[in-house]
Amino acid sequence: MNKIIELKQVYKDYPQAGVLQTVLHGIDLEIVPGEFVAIVGPSGNGKSTLLNLLTGIDHPSRGEVIVNGTALQSLSNEKLTRWRGANIGIVFQFFQLLPALSLLQNVMLPMDFLGILDKARRKARAMQLLERVGLADAAHRLPSQVSGGQQQRAAIARALASDPPLIVADEPTGNLDAATADAVFDLFAHLRDQGKTLVMVTHNEDLADAASRKLEIRSGRIHADTPARAG
Ligand code: ADP
Ligand code: MG
Repeated sequence: MNKIIELKQVYKDYPQAGVLQTVLHGIDLEIVPGEFVAIVGPSGNGKSTLLNLLTGIDHPSRGEVIVNGTALQSLSNEKLTRWRGANIGIVFQFFQLLPALSLLQNVMLPMDFLGILDKARRKARAMQLLERVGLADAAHRLPSQVSGGQQQRAAIARALASDPPLIVADEPTGNLDAATADAVFDLFAHLRDQGKTLVMVTHNEDLADAASRKLEIRSGRIHADTPARAG
C-alpha cells in the first residue's frame, strides 16, 4: 500500500436555502507518503470541504475516502475519533486551542486522549514539541495570553503530538502577519523535510512554492493537478 490518501468519486452535497447543492463533483485523488500538496483556488469552491472529508470530520454524500489504509466510512464515530487522533494532525485557520488550558496542556491533549505514554512522559514530549516551535517560555500561558503566531505554533505542536504520518492544514497562515507566517512556514518546511505527508489549503505563496504538488480546486472539481515548480 503506497497511497496514504485515496478518494474515489467523492461527491458532497449540502442543503443551501432548502435545496441540495453539489459542492464537490466526483473527486478522484491519490496522494503518496511524503508528498506536500498545496490546495489552492478561489474561496467558496470546496477546499475546506475536501479537507473535512479526508480527515473524516465530514462524510461524503457518495464515494469513498481511504486514508492510511482505512476506509473512513467503515468506522463508527467513536472509532473514527481515535483513528483520527493517531493518524492525522490537523491545523486550523483559527488555531482552535482550548482556551481554558495552557499551551502545554493543549499539546498534551492528543496524547492524553489516546493514552500515549505515561503522564510524565507526555508532559516531557509536549515540552519538547513546544521547544521545537520556539515556545518553551510560553508553555504555561493560556492561548489568550500569547500572540496569534504563538497560538498557531502551539497548534502545530499539538498536531504533531501523536506523531501522525499525515498533517492536514486549512489556511494555517491565513490569520498571521507576514513575520509570524514565515515562522510557521519554516515549521512546515521542516516537517516536509522529515518526510511527513502534508496536505494544506493555502494562499501563502511561499508555502505553495514549498509544496511538491499543487491542486487547484474550482467549482468543486480538480481544475489542475501539477507538480510544483522544481526547487
Ligand atoms: P472554500 O474552503 O474553498 O472557501 P468551502 O469548502 O468552505 O469552500 O465551501 C464550499 C461551498 O460549500 C460554499 O458554497 C459553502 O457555503 C458550502 N458549505 C460549506 N460547508 C457547508 C455546510 N456545513 N453547510 C452548508 N453549506 C456548506
Ligand atoms: Mg476554506
